[in-house]
Amino acid sequence: MNEFELINKFFKPLATSKESFGLTDDVAKISLEPDEELIISKDLLAQDTHFLKEDGGYKIAKKALLSNLSDLASSGSTPFGYMLGFSKNDTLTHKFYEDFTQGLKEVQDEYDLKLLGGDTIRSKTLTFSITIFGKIKKGSALLRKNAKNGDSIYVSGYIGDSYLGLKNKTNKYFHDKHFFPSPRIKLGQELLKNNLSSCAIDISDGLLADLNHICISSNLSAKIQLDDIPFSKEAQTLLYTSKKTSKLDLIAGGEDFELIFSINKDSEEQINQLAKKIKINLTKIGEFYLDKEANTKVDLLDSKNNKIKTNTDGYIH
Ligand code: ADP
Ligand code: MG
Repeated sequence: MNEFELINKFFKPLATSKESFGLTDDVAKISLEPDEELIISKDLLAQDTHFLKEDGGYKIAKKALLSNLSDLASSGSTPFGYMLGFSKNDTLTHKFYEDFTQGLKEVQDEYDLKLLGGDTIRSKTLTFSITIFGKIKKGSALLRKNAKNGDSIYVSGYIGDSYLGLKNKTNKYFHDKHFFPSPRIKLGQELLKNNLSSCAIDISDGLLADLNHICISSNLSAKIQLDDIPFSKEAQTLLYTSKKTSKLDLIAGGEDFELIFSINKDSEEQINQLAKKIKINLTKIGEFYLDKEANTKVDLLDSKNNKIKTNTDGYIH
């Protein structure tokens, strides 16, 4: 299949907004209201590093777009479109293209997104890239640098299921958590709309590593309680029955695509109400503080408040 067939048959049906001119121009055009700004994020995925060709087009595409959406979720913005960088070669079958575009379509439909354009090349190894765009009220984005001394640290959902899915692709629950994450778009929007937070990050490198990113950007330290970190029932059962996996593996694992966010202590009750409203588990795991020596570090504490030795490097992508 040549590039033009691929674009016309598979990509054009995904580009239904006026902004993309039906993929008939060199460019797409995005209009903004005077009080809006654009929030942008890009992910680049390489064969055998970030995905295996055997995963198939459906899972590769879905995970790529969902994890990119998670970046936008951390800002609190409302996604509307994305650009696709696509490399192809003769190892790709018709079914791969079908599955790939089906995966994109499902995510588009769920999150109200449109394909705006992209570029297609030939290359020996496969690389995919998505650049995603969201809109937000000017100056309101949740940012890593905005945590405040004394703020409570919250995390959404459960930690470690995705890591367990990577280790054990035959368990359907964990497998699906790994390939089909739930970008917390609604949570980011609600935090922003209700003025509950000004700082969030999505977990791609691992809970400890990403919390450390907030600490560095905000010039603060964090202490979190191991016993307060939320694990799914499925992960708890596995921790209980398997000596091979520890809680520390789960919090260093990464690709949870949950949000870590900071809130003022006075807003904790509102967070409990929000959790019920949007039906997402929101758990307080600790707090930010200003270290005497102005270090930025993440302390993980056991039930007796002793520090647990950790490695905050997380997963190196
Ligand atoms: P150019 O050669 O000027 O870069 P192309 O012929 O590559 O333009 O692209 C033609 C149209 O198809 C453009 O609107 C472009 O955005 C779109 N397009 C090309 N590749 C992709 C892709 N992988 N995904 C989405 N749109 C694409
Ligand atoms: Mg081109």
